[in-house]
Amino acid sequence: MGVSGASLGSGEETACYVVNGNILIDTGWNAAVSMQSHDVAPTDIDHVFITHCHQDHTLGLPGLFFANRNRAQARPNAPVLQLYGTRDLPAIRDAACAMLQAERDPQCVPEHEVHRVYPGDLLELPELKVDVGRAFHPLDARCYRFTDTATGGSIAFSGDSAYHEGLVSLAKGCDVLIHEAAASPESEVGGLQRYLHSRPQDAARVANEAGTISLALVHYQQSARPEVLRRAKEGYPNARLAEKGQRLQILGPGQVVWQ
Ligand SMILES: [Zn+2]
Ligand SMILES: [Zn+2]
Repeated sequence: MGVSGASLGSGEETACYVVNGNILIDTGWNAAVSMQSHDVAPTDIDHVFITHCHQDHTLGLPGLFFANRNRAQARPNAPVLQLYGTRDLPAIRDAACAMLQAERDPQCVPEHEVHRVYPGDLLELPELKVDVGRAFHPLDARCYRFTDTATGGSIAFSGDSAYHEGLVSLAKGCDVLIHEAAASPESEVGGLQRYLHSRPQDAARVANEAGTISLALVHYQQSARPEVLRRAKEGYPNARLAEKGQRLQILGPGQVVWQ
């Protein structure tokens, strides 16, 4: 739904992605609105995985709740909305409820459950299993890998993270790695350590070491597109810049179709 960095331009959306039409990874600035441009209804979402509780990944949560206030009418058999994330997630949920004045207007927040998840956890969803890993960022942060239990196809999301070995092991042999590239390609390692983000060359290193089939960069500064892609391809020739609204299909291990 969005691939931009934290500084947004007109018509852009920041980190948020949909898997299989009913799983949302991060809520961007306004995922509930952004997804409707790409034929996904906010009431289609059953599971929300938050990588970490920085503003650009969680500001869309009140909007997602509000857009689901009529969930029961829109989808009479819809399951209870499930939220997964770091130890900060309950506080962010409470803040979203406060913003929606849920005490006075309880109908503005759909029924939901919040789950803290930890590195090494393995979750079983109806069609997917989800591996939870640690991301390396200034606050508690996760990366996730989704594997189709029928086909074995898999996709991993780095979340916001500097390079570290945990990302490599989570992404080992996956079909698609969706990796952030928020740090400038020109930044020095000292800067990386301060901001704890990845440069495109760091994302390429993870893809190489993990042996992923393809690498798509997200959360990058739109004005730096050519340089971000050039630096990623230097380290990993099968790298691409993900586009807002772009779709991909994983038919099985090694079979990725970009649309
Ligand atoms: Zn962050
Ligand atoms: Zn971010």
